[in-house]
Amino acid sequence: MRKTIEQQELLDIRDLSVDEITNYLETHDEPGYRAAQIYQWLWKYGVTSFDEMTNLPKKLRNQLQKDFGILTMTADVVQKSLDGTVKFRFVLKDGHKIESVLIPVPGDNRYTVCVSSQVGCSLACEFCATGQMKRERNLSASEIYEQVFKVNQHCQAHFGHPLTNIVYMGMGEPLLSYRNVKRSIELINSDEGMNMATWRITISTAGIAKIIRKIADDNLQCKLALSLHAALDHKRDLIMPINKNDKIEDLMEALQYYYDTTRHKITYEYILFHEFNDTEEDADALARLSRQFPVTVNLLEYNPVAGVTLTKSSEERFDYFIKMMADRQIPVTVRRSRGKDIDAACGQLANKN
Ligand code: SF4
Repeated sequence: MRKTIEQQELLDIRDLSVDEITNYLETHDEPGYRAAQIYQWLWKYGVTSFDEMTNLPKKLRNQLQKDFGILTMTADVVQKSLDGTVKFRFVLKDGHKIESVLIPVPGDNRYTVCVSSQVGCSLACEFCATGQMKRERNLSASEIYEQVFKVNQHCQAHFGHPLTNIVYMGMGEPLLSYRNVKRSIELINSDEGMNMATWRITISTAGIAKIIRKIADDNLQCKLALSLHAALDHKRDLIMPINKNDKIEDLMEALQYYYDTTRHKITYEYILFHEFNDTEEDADALARLSRQFPVTVNLLEYNPVAGVTLTKSSEERFDYFIKMMADRQIPVTVRRSRGKDIDAACGQLANKN
């Protein structure tokens, strides 16, 4: 359901920084310390109306009500997988829909949310359901934050545990919405927000060399994962069109800079596709890229997407690839799919219901 024009035109107070709220308060003869109070209500407690800000004078609450909205999103579909994974579809203030996924692993005390950064995606990776959708727009920092906040509430209510990890690996390419992604991480990390350590946050990118360097310079302190999926340019060109702009060598130079600047280990995500990127030649190429700086290599099972001809490597080829990497002294971790039955696994997010 689309919101009314009046609601859309109301400025969302959550798009304002603390400094901007302080300036607003000054123009209304209110003390600056109220900005921190307002910020806490918005980000720590997630209130949806100014009336809930009970430590503000009534006059100020009325003024805020006149000047701003708190335009929150709602989950219209929540689906639970047989393996416990939960997929949320959120309706945004302009009616667009996005998805987030909660991956609980109670045995390891690990509760991860996978968040979206854009509505749709422009990068059109061959194997990805989101890539088949048109990119509509970037998500604002508050829209990214709110996914985390709402999924955290669900996690606490249903699993009795807060989120432990956040991955920017849902719909969209986070580095194409970098300003908002960065601000959302600052909010998640802040005392007024969720106070969550940045090392619990991973940004996963298809590979935009220029922004990888910027993340290093900005000292974001979060983890970085590269969706590599092919270690040879002629193969990566076929499945990830972004590779035609930023070749593997450009990415390696940017990652080297990232490592030299941050000293953070980088993760390569590598989906194994049957007889496409699971050969000896591919293992050689992946091993070579894995020796340049410290990396963790994550091998992933492919999750089928309608209309895609690539298929997942057979069990035998998957196991043989692990062996080939071991023979080359490259340790790997294997990530099995979660939430396949509800289209919540990696690469499957496409607002299907
Ligand atoms: S894999 Fe990521 S970057 Fe590629 S199309 Fe899907 S959402 Fe976009």
